[in-house]
Amino acid sequence: PKKADAFAYAPAPESRSLVDIAPSYGLFIDGEFGDAAGGKVFKTVSPSTEEVLSEVAQAGAEDVDRAVGAARKAFEKWSALPGSERAKYLFRIARIIQERSRELAVLETLDNGKPIKETRDFDLPTVAAHFFYYAGWADKLGHAGYGADPRPLGVAGQIIPWNFPLMMLAWKIAPALATGNTVVLKPAETTPLSALFFADICRQAGLPKGVVNIITGDGATGAELVAHPDVNKIAFTGSTGVGKAIARQLAGTDKRTTLELGGKGANIVFDDAPIDQAVEGIVTGIFFNQGQVCCAGSRLLVQESVHDEVLDALKRRLSSLRIGDPLDKNTDLGAINSAEQLARIRALAETGEAEGAERWSPACELPSAGYWFAPTLFTNVTQAHTVARDEIFGPVLSVLTFRTPEEAVAKANNSQYGLSAGIWTEKGSRILAVASKLRAGVVWANTFNKFDPTSPFGGYKESGHGREGGRHGLEAYLDV
Ligand code: NAD
Repeated sequence: PKKADAFAYAPAPESRSLVDIAPSYGLFIDGEFGDAAGGKVFKTVSPSTEEVLSEVAQAGAEDVDRAVGAARKAFEKWSALPGSERAKYLFRIARIIQERSRELAVLETLDNGKPIKETRDFDLPTVAAHFFYYAGWADKLGHAGYGADPRPLGVAGQIIPWNFPLMMLAWKIAPALATGNTVVLKPAETTPLSALFFADICRQAGLPKGVVNIITGDGATGAELVAHPDVNKIAFTGSTGVGKAIARQLAGTDKRTTLELGGKGANIVFDDAPIDQAVEGIVTGIFFNQGQVCCAGSRLLVQESVHDEVLDALKRRLSSLRIGDPLDKNTDLGAINSAEQLARIRALAETGEAEGAERWSPACELPSAGYWFAPTLFTNVTQAHTVARDEIFGPVLSVLTFRTPEEAVAKANNSQYGLSAGIWTEKGSRILAVASKLRAGVVWANTFNKFDPTSPFGGYKESGHGREGGRHGLEAYLDV
């Protein structure tokens, strides 16, 4: 070989054999794995191949009751520990996550379908960072302006979706434990494995029994947890429909709630923006995690004068994206998480065409097994179109135009949702002026989909209420 070839980058797919997946898993209650009382199980499959990865216990009312009981029993001692002692466990968990992050990245990619590049370089580092961050808070709560006596709520019931299984777990469990609460967490039915792996990490860290309980199951299991009389707080991330049902179910009870729901983020590109950089941000905004991101920039608002230039550059860039084996380090877009989600995306894209928007995808070959959807653009979109209004939760971008900053703001805010937005412009004064008028919990400027544990995240309007992350994230788990 020529000399230079000796250093050629030849990435191989990340090895499946890095992680041991057992043929079946039980519920993690009071520090032990065990079968569901009713003996029911469900299968979890790899969305990129449809291969069955494992069989997982389906928790029913009796199991939920046992898990809540274990969390209640553990609460007394856990909440009485000095913050500095709770911090030690959280630091230990954070370090074990770092040590086992290659295994976890492969497991998450297998169960979710997202590219290994994302799980390895984004999800896992963010998860560890979250535990480190809240570990640091555990012994400082009395100094944080809450007065001398901030008190944990008790048992937190936590229900999470499938798009960032471990990251959503970290956002929920880290602040709850730091503030002295105990937890019963239910992962989504299509992605239970990384939460069960995390249960093992809790054991490895020597976390006292019952402080964290993981119950796998579907929406019925989640509903049992919400209804349980001895749960003090429900933290839910998921669809706006289920979030509203939970709010109705809890109305009139003394349970506290935080709801992180859907979004339809506007990514606003002004004519003075650096176009190449903006195109990268548009791609990250909507094709990261196949667009299955609550804060995705799923509406592109582009100033009329640069519409053609941006669209040309965007189409060229989309034609270079690699779709396929999520374990391949070069893959940009992996599989859609489930057959149901794929059907939802397909139906909404068909509605877009039927309503007269123009559909475009780059030429690409999709694998025959598994759940796949090509990156898709809709142009000639109006605000009345379904694809401009409904959350698609897939790799589908709707392109609208505007002439003035006022029109951009009005269109961006014309949504039932208010989770995220992006602004692309060279002018700092314009960033500040536009951002202050956007009704969105997160506004990114000249970047998109950036996350940091120090920064609160959450929604306006039907995107939910309460904040996760940062100091604000502590408040959701404290009485003062
Ligand atoms: P989903 O609402 O169907 O499910 C979310 C979780 O709730 C799952 O664990 C599910 O089993 C459980 N669940 C379902 N019905 C329930 C019920 N009646 N009572 C209690 N629990 C129930 O949502 P999904 O399809 O899994 O996730 C996609 C949605 O989540 C999208 O709308 C997305 O925008 C939203 N999401 C929001 C955020 C955020 O931070 N705002 C983050 C990720 C996802």
